[in-house]
Amino acid sequence: MVHHAMTLTLNPEKSELQVTTRITLPERATAGGEIRFFLHSGLQVQSSQVKVQKISAADPAWQKVQATSAVPLSLYRVTLADKMTDLQLKYKGKIYHVLNDRNETPGVISADGVFLAHSTAWYPVFSEDELVSFELQVRLPKGWGAVSQGELRQDVSANQYRMLQWVEPQPQDDIYVVASRYHEYQQATGGITAMVMLRAKDDALAEKYLKATGQYIKLYNNLIGPYPYKKFALVENFWETGFGMPSFTLLGSRVIRLPFIIYSSYPHEILHNYWGNGVFVDYASGNWAEGLTAYLADHLLQEQRGQGAEYRRGVLQKYSDFVNESRDFPLTEFTSRHSSATEAVGYGKTLMLFHMLRLRMGDEKFKQALQALYQKRRFSVASFADVEREFSSIAGSNLKAFFRQWVQQAGAPYLTINGVSVEEKGKTYKINFLLQQRQPEAAYQLDVPIVVYLKDRQEPYQTTVAVNGKNQKVSITVDQKPIAMDVDPAFDVFRRLDSGEIPPAISQGFGDDKPLLVLPAGEDTQRLQAYRKLAEQWQKQHLPDLEIISDNQLTALPSDRSIWIVGWENRFRETVISSLENYEVVVADDDVIVSQQRYNKDQHALLFSARHPQNSHKTLFWLSCDNTTAIPGFARKLPHYAKYSYLVFTGDAPDNIVKGQWAVTDSPMRVILDKGIAQPVFSATPRTALAPMPE
Ligand SMILES: [Zn+2]
Repeated sequence: MVHHAMTLTLNPEKSELQVTTRITLPERATAGGEIRFFLHSGLQVQSSQVKVQKISAADPAWQKVQATSAVPLSLYRVTLADKMTDLQLKYKGKIYHVLNDRNETPGVISADGVFLAHSTAWYPVFSEDELVSFELQVRLPKGWGAVSQGELRQDVSANQYRMLQWVEPQPQDDIYVVASRYHEYQQATGGITAMVMLRAKDDALAEKYLKATGQYIKLYNNLIGPYPYKKFALVENFWETGFGMPSFTLLGSRVIRLPFIIYSSYPHEILHNYWGNGVFVDYASGNWAEGLTAYLADHLLQEQRGQGAEYRRGVLQKYSDFVNESRDFPLTEFTSRHSSATEAVGYGKTLMLFHMLRLRMGDEKFKQALQALYQKRRFSVASFADVEREFSSIAGSNLKAFFRQWVQQAGAPYLTINGVSVEEKGKTYKINFLLQQRQPEAAYQLDVPIVVYLKDRQEPYQTTVAVNGKNQKVSITVDQKPIAMDVDPAFDVFRRLDSGEIPPAISQGFGDDKPLLVLPAGEDTQRLQAYRKLAEQWQKQHLPDLEIISDNQLTALPSDRSIWIVGWENRFRETVISSLENYEVVVADDDVIVSQQRYNKDQHALLFSARHPQNSHKTLFWLSCDNTTAIPGFARKLPHYAKYSYLVFTGDAPDNIVKGQWAVTDSPMRVILDKGIAQPVFSATPRTALAPMPE
């Protein structure tokens, strides 16, 4: 580990920094001899206790570093005397990189704010994968604040400047400095300091975040172990971001004020201090931390509200709609998400792996294993194999086969039920059926929950069947006449869902291999132009294989693809309207009625989806937005509503006012055993959440 003791002076107006640093080198470097480091080439070394030489032609290893760097780098060489442990350096210069088209910068010092990180190469880096600890004094103009990892040890204001000292003794892979003019709030909570740094005064917002921080820290202190840092800070950034760093999160002004963030991304970012920034990820063998974080933040919060099964259905829906064979990959290859498909695998499949592990081990053992993993691996790198080892040790059984099938191979089981019969035997009933795994890959070993609803009995009979073959005969004996049977109704198994288990939803339109979009030739010219732009934007950003066509070039809708039908004046509008007859919506001449409310076509952007009448595996979408000004916003927003079947927006932005999923009524995982009796809804009591939300 390399330790930096540095003083950083920032001049935001001039985009300048100056650093005086004493670097303590790891033992291997102190045997004497040559060492090399790189720095941003906008920075000039001014002095050192040894001779610092700039290297002009770098060796191939350094050239690779230079080629992948987002900033220009200069390479240096120093020769250390035997037993020399410190390198002292003074350097200064300018750093200013504007945001790129993905809204990112490798580093910037400006009058608006400062962002410095490993990507900036603002401090000497000796090897690409080195870990660092630091004591950092930041000197800023008066009225400014700065945040880094770790603990705020000093905060001194003099006439013209402010000096803050941030200290992080634990190994880190980055040294961040984020600065701007802030209104600062803080509160002691759960043994740490909760901080909120806002660019404009907003006491109510700060209060909300401080309180939430306290609650989440308490939740995870109880569930996993003591939070690994001295503070957690919510920092408002000077451009729109949603970054999570060790011990702070950097969110844009708009994101911070979205009402759902405090219950979704915010706890997720806090939990990354345990998984990712507490226990580090061995990316070369697959990123397990995203899925575990999603499971213990996003999923847990839904589970606490009795929505766990719904949430998991959404996860499986994403996988089933977005990940076809060509887009699938094993978890060992996941590093970070860059599409809906990589998210569905990297987050979704991993999340389900931990869910299945929990059901297999029981809640208590599962929690013990989380605690052991955290305690033993904190501030060191862990691979999937290390995770497997910790869980196996607590489970008291070898989980190798379990991890192998979910981590090392791509794909998912696809279950079907066949040949169901009921035998009456005296006072008991025996249900026999064939549970088949129809995926192309080999059979999985699965624990499949089965729920049987009984005549005159409130509580259904529940059991779990261990499945390990492709064609498994299952027999279940119950002591009352069975009415219906559900296989995996709470979506506890990671599997590819049948289209009958999923409502028609936008995800099918964005996940289809070769979707079609039909423009209304007879539409008002300006509006048609805006619709065409919408289609081209989707083609560019989400759907490279989207085919765009006019309704007058088509005599009938093809049955082998999902189809976007655009505009109120579209020739194929009637086809969609008749497919919508199975759902709770009424389409009239100038408006629609959905959720008992009437929405006229002039002021509302609408989207409805329905099963393709000729192919239940494909989906039809009808979207219309008569307010031409709102079409670009509509185009941008729709992909974010992937799991929904219908949507209503209003205004020029436009803003969403109605969203929903159609009910699923024909799931092939439901078997009716007695047609004469009213069929039950899946109503088994939701599982108790893994951990409750503290007061
Ligand atoms: Zn994450």
